[in-house]
Amino acid sequence: MAITVLVSGAKGRMGQEVVRAVNDAHGIEVVGLVDIGDDLARAIATTKPQVMVDFTVPDAAMGNIRTALAHRVAPVVGTTGISAADREEVEALCQNNSTPCLIAPNFALGAVLMMRFAKEAAQYFPDAEVIEMHHEKKLDAPSGTAALTAEMIAQGRMDAKPIELPAGAFEKIPGSRGGKAAGDVPVHSVRLPGFVASQMVIFGGPGQTLTIRHDSIDRASFMPGVIHAIRRIVSLEGSGKLIYGLENLL
Ligand code: NAP
Repeated sequence: MAITVLVSGAKGRMGQEVVRAVNDAHGIEVVGLVDIGDDLARAIATTKPQVMVDFTVPDAAMGNIRTALAHRVAPVVGTTGISAADREEVEALCQNNSTPCLIAPNFALGAVLMMRFAKEAAQYFPDAEVIEMHHEKKLDAPSGTAALTAEMIAQGRMDAKPIELPAGAFEKIPGSRGGKAAGDVPVHSVRLPGFVASQMVIFGGPGQTLTIRHDSIDRASFMPGVIHAIRRIVSLEGSGKLIYGLENLL
């Protein structure tokens, strides 16, 4: 029996790519397509999918997740900008409905490895800054990947302490030192045509720097991760777990 999937945000850049990838994948079938203005609850009732893949906008994603979980459809969510407080709500909804959910800020395997390497490097290089670069149409900043990378750097530091800037350091232009993510890791967001999704993590230590960089140059880079997630989330049916980050499903 093929795994049945409904794609939410099906007309978007990522949604269209997901529809193509699922149609090409063995043993998975698209049964429903939903975009802005469509009635998700009705589409779920009509098409009865096992999984909802959501690549929409931050304002819509939480509503879509609530609807899917209420119908015991497992969400695989790529939409970024979902807050820690939202994730707590999703965790409770997963438990209440005995349905799993994956929220993954980045489905590209290379990006998952970049974050893993960053966590490891932070143990020896606690001083790090993140520069993320995305296309000019991206709504949220910083990217979900940058926010998760900062969390992982903060975890990876263990007892190592980052340096403090000298007393009296100041910004001549507000924001020039970037925003502060988890662990006060500075994050700089670049929005320019030409990028899909790129990120550099720069570590500094006495007399040396280490840079880890990942580039998604085509949205196809995210698809093996999405297909893998669809297969794995179905194997967790009934578990009521929220999984945050594709690395926890690999
Ligand atoms: P996009 O092209 O703007 O696509 C979003 C689609 O969702 C649009 O067709 C939009 O319709 C539709 N939409 C808006 N509200 C909706 C609702 N309530 N229900 C259903 N559909 C709705 O954006 P994108 O580039 O595909 O990116 C989508 C999301 O994926 C973003 O949050 C982005 O950051 C994220 N992303 C994640 C990854 C990852 O690996 N996790 C990778 C790339 C992108 P309208 O255009 O008519 O508003």
